[in-house]
Amino acid sequence: MANIGVLALQGAVAEHLACLNALEDVAARVVKTRAQLDDIDALIMPGGESTTMGKLLVEYELMRPLQERIKQGMPVWGTCAGMILLANQIVNQDWTYLNVLDVAVRRNAYGSQLNSFVTRTVVEKVSPEPMPLVFIRAPYIEKAGPQVEVLLRLNGHIVAVRQNNILATAFHPELTADLRFHQFFVNMLNGAA
Ligand code: GLN
Repeated sequence: MANIGVLALQGAVAEHLACLNALEDVAARVVKTRAQLDDIDALIMPGGESTTMGKLLVEYELMRPLQERIKQGMPVWGTCAGMILLANQIVNQDWTYLNVLDVAVRRNAYGSQLNSFVTRTVVEKVSPEPMPLVFIRAPYIEKAGPQVEVLLRLNGHIVAVRQNNILATAFHPELTADLRFHQFFVNMLNGAA
């Protein structure tokens, strides 16, 4: 049984927990404290608002321990704001957070809330059938380092990547009924992806 945590400082926490709970052999946990962080095998960082989440990570004294665990190889998946927190460069902001993912991301890259959208496309590594992708004031990746595997490009922009134990998506699989992305992350834990 894999213990998978969802960082529960702010954002789409309940939705990720519900997806994880629908999968086999997964125990879903909320993570708000250092002790809870020490107790999980993998972590999802939800969508929400990256500035707020970044401040709360410092406030709850989770920033350094989390960075350490990711560097030691704990599987982590950042959705949307979570992707921004993982990046080592944010092109339209002069500070960063965890600095563990070798990408340059642009925050709010598609414009305002009015430019949020849903689309369907195939993410080859995840499933041969198209899946629904929800973008909400989403970032995209402008540049990815040599160790970064691009999982999806949409209209020329990189929106899903993997770098070893780190998965990042600009969109929100937890807001759909489709569990394939969550299963993909669980498979990463088992080294099967
Ligand atoms: N726009 C948000 C940010 O910059 C991310 C939006 C989201 O997570 N849905 O943090």
